[in-house]
Amino acid sequence: PVTSLARQFGRHDSYTPDALDVDLGRQLILDTVRPITGSERLPLCSALGRVLAETILSPIAVPAHDNSAMDGYGLRADDLAADGDTTLEIAGTALAGQPFNGSLQPGQCVRIMTGARVPAGVDTVVMQEVAHAAAGRVTLPPGQRKGQNIRRAGEDLRAGTPALPAGRLIRPAELGLIASLGIGNVAVRRRLRVAFFSTGDEIVSIGNAAREGQIYDSNRYTLLGMLTRLGFEVIDIGVVRDDPHTLETTLRDAATRADAIITSGGVSVGEADFTREVMARLGEVLFWKIAMKPGRPLAFGRIGQPDAEGDGGAWLFGLPGNPVAAMVAFYQFARPALLRLAGVDPVAEPPLLQVGCTQAIRKAPGRTEFLRGVLFRDGADWKVRTTGPQGSGLLSSMADANCFIVLGQTQGNVAVGELVQVQVLDGIV
Ligand code: AMP
Ligand code: MG
Repeated sequence: PVTSLARQFGRHDSYTPDALDVDLGRQLILDTVRPITGSERLPLCSALGRVLAETILSPIAVPAHDNSAMDGYGLRADDLAADGDTTLEIAGTALAGQPFNGSLQPGQCVRIMTGARVPAGVDTVVMQEVAHAAAGRVTLPPGQRKGQNIRRAGEDLRAGTPALPAGRLIRPAELGLIASLGIGNVAVRRRLRVAFFSTGDEIVSIGNAAREGQIYDSNRYTLLGMLTRLGFEVIDIGVVRDDPHTLETTLRDAATRADAIITSGGVSVGEADFTREVMARLGEVLFWKIAMKPGRPLAFGRIGQPDAEGDGGAWLFGLPGNPVAAMVAFYQFARPALLRLAGVDPVAEPPLLQVGCTQAIRKAPGRTEFLRGVLFRDGADWKVRTTGPQGSGLLSSMADANCFIVLGQTQGNVAVGELVQVQVLDGIV
């Protein structure tokens, strides 16, 4: 059985469940979850977005042989004049994929193209832009350095050395790197299975008419999007009524099918009572108030018990119901933990960049605020402004944003032109 989470976290001096620091909360969660163990072998073309379950050792040297880094002339440095021009006879041509197999006599050179194997005897390449060729001979200026413009065999990777570590997320560059080694399939972690549902008697699914006082469920759609983007297998459980029995059977069932369960709603004060009681019965779940805005209530814990492999049961992330708060809490707390569960190692922290803010922001010290921001170009500089109204129910503020403006715990009001920290939402890869 897992050691009591409450006891484990209580060892931290600064553990205050009713005003938990964002970074500490994230770290506690991250340190608690352990990667799933299952893996499968896939053809490389199906491995994008998956997590390597094995270290990729390079079976070959890369590059496989010394080759030219330039179009030019390959020669023996000993043939270069000590000062002044050197004229050499062109004995042949080395192309990429078509090596020159002859042997160089003193006073000879080869025409050589980028990527062509460097012929025996050649130790230096002079680029063609400085050379003058005529009638089978080429004249080269002084000032050449022995060894220049040659890419050495194994300079990228030596045979038998690690090319990529287990735990690496496979992006386009990793696909290409693995392919460059001639490797056609890889062992990857199985996809993480994440179940999610919304709670609330006022929530209706699209396709049903929303009656007076009811609202459409948006959280399941943002969750579907966020989880799919991370490459996980999603299990959409739908909307669950605020009712202990339904909640219990739903959680029990989800825990048998998923590695992690994400709920939204029902964790704020006033609603927590039966949720707390049900979750306590099924596992151990802690209810935190995070010192942040938006996204103060957060539940984290475990439903069911892990088996010997650490599988079985599921981690639970109880996000707040307000749509923006749910997204912010997902990105700040669930995302890094889910990546770790999925086997990503190390889980990289999203960069925090400093950018000048073009508007004043009111901010009280004592909590971290995540405002929705727009990074924009102002001449040579990039600056940031907010998207406007920042209510935690205003999903349009997320839709219009390309970054979070992160105002730390101790930060007070922001003046026009002051530097603020931002977290960019989209990368290019
Ligand atoms: P709760 O955390 O359950 O108190 O919900 C806080 C606010 O978020 C309430 O106004 C809810 O109506 C709203 N809300 C909760 N769940 C959802 C959902 N799935 N989609 C849209 N809004 C929601
Ligand atoms: Mg609710």
